[in-house]
Amino acid sequence: MPRRKDIIAIVGAGKGGRYILETLLRMKDIEVRYVYDSDPNAPGMLLAKENKIFCSTDTTYPELWGNRKISIILEVTGSAAVFRSLGGLKAQSTSLIGARGNRMVFGMLASENQVRRDLEHYKDKLEHLVTQRTSELEQANKQLNNRLEELAQLNRKLEDISQQKTQYLLRSTHQLKAPFAAIQSYTDLILRGYTGEIPEKTCDITNKIKQRCDTLSTAIREMLHLANLQVLTASELDIETVDLNALVNKTVEETNILAESGNITLTFTPASTPVKIQCDPAKLTGLLQILISNAIDYSPAHSKVVVSIRSTKTRISIQVKDKGIGIRDDAREKIFSEFYRTNEAAEKNPNGSGLGLPIAGHIARLHGFKINLNSTEGKGSTFSVRIPIKNSKGS
Ligand code: ADP
Repeated sequence: MPRRKDIIAIVGAGKGGRYILETLLRMKDIEVRYVYDSDPNAPGMLLAKENKIFCSTDTTYPELWGNRKISIILEVTGSAAVFRSLGGLKAQSTSLIGARGNRMVFGMLASENQVRRDLEHYKDKLEHLVTQRTSELEQANKQLNNRLEELAQLNRKLEDISQQKTQYLLRSTHQLKAPFAAIQSYTDLILRGYTGEIPEKTCDITNKIKQRCDTLSTAIREMLHLANLQVLTASELDIETVDLNALVNKTVEETNILAESGNITLTFTPASTPVKIQCDPAKLTGLLQILISNAIDYSPAHSKVVVSIRSTKTRISIQVKDKGIGIRDDAREKIFSEFYRTNEAAEKNPNGSGLGLPIAGHIARLHGFKINLNSTEGKGSTFSVRIPIKNSKGS
C-alpha cells in the first residue's frame, strides 16, 4: 500500500514561510495543503498561489479547526499569541511546531538544501565530464575513421601501382621474347654451319652467346609466368580431384633426366595409402618441378634427392630433401623474394634466375598451401609443401 501523505499547514508566509514551502514542495511524502498570512502578497502566499495551494488571509484559520487530517501545523509568524490560538483550535492528533521547533526545521531544511545543491553541483560536473569525454571519444573515433579511409585509399593506390607495374613488366618482357628467339635461331644457324665453316674461336664465342640466350629466355619465361600468377586469383585455378601419389610420381619421372645429367639419384617414396587432393594439377606440378630442380641444381654429384609424401590424419605434406649446399639462416626469408640468390647458389649454378621460389610461393598461396623449409648450411635442405586436410578428398 502506498504511504499516506503527511498534510501540512503553514501559518505565516513571509520569507521564512516561503523558504519552508519551497523546500517542502520538493519532498515526496508531504503535501502542503494550507498557507495563511494576513498579507495576500507575502512571498509565501504568492508561491502557494503559483502551486495552486489553498491560501488565505483569514487569521481565524477556520480550515484548521479540529481538522484531524492535518499532521503538522508550522507556525512561522513568531508571535506567541498566534501560537497559542493555533494550540487551542487544532485537532489533538495534529502537531504544532512553533518558534524553536521551526528553527530546527529551518536548520534541517537548510542542510537538506545544501546537500541537494552539492549533489546537483556534482551531477552537473559529472554530466559535463561525460559530455566532454564523449565528444573527445567521438573526435578520436572520427580521426581514426579518417585515418582508416586514408589508409584504404593508399592501399588502393598501391594496388593500382602494383597492377600497373605487373602489366608493364608483362608488356616489356613480352617484347623481349621475340628478339631473343631470333638471336637463338641465328646462333643455331651459325653453329650448324649455315654461314659456312667458322673458326674454332668464333664457334666458342657463338656457343657462349647461345648459352646466355638460353638462360635469358628461361628468365623471360619465368618473369612472364610470375607476372601472370600475380594477377591470378584462387577462383581462376583449374581445380580437380587429383591422385597425389600419381602426380608426384609423374613429376619425379619427368625431372629424372635432369638428375641423371648431374649424376644425382632422384627417388620417390609415395604415401602408403592413396591420397586424393583438390588442386590445379598443372600448377602443382610446376611448383614441384621448381623444388626438385633446385634440389638437383644445389646438390653435389653422386648425392641423393628424395621426394616423399607424408599423410597423417591432420596433414598431408610433400617433401623434397637434398644433401646440397644448404641455406644460411639469414637467407631463409629472402629466398622467396623475386631475383634473390645466395652467393653460394650463384657460384654453384650461375644460370639461375631467382624467380623459381617466388613462383612456387605464389602457386602455394593460391591453393592455401604452405612451403616450409628446414636447412643446415653445407649439409642440405628439405622443402615441404603442406596441404591442409580440407584439400583432402579422402581415399
Ligand atoms: P634460382 O634457383 O633460379 O636461383 P629460386 O627462386 O628457385 O631461384 O631460388 C632462390 C634461391 O634460393 C637460390 O638462388 C638459392 O640461393 C636458394 N635455394 C633454393 N633451393 C635451394 C636448395 N635446394 N638448396 C640450396 N639453396 C636453395
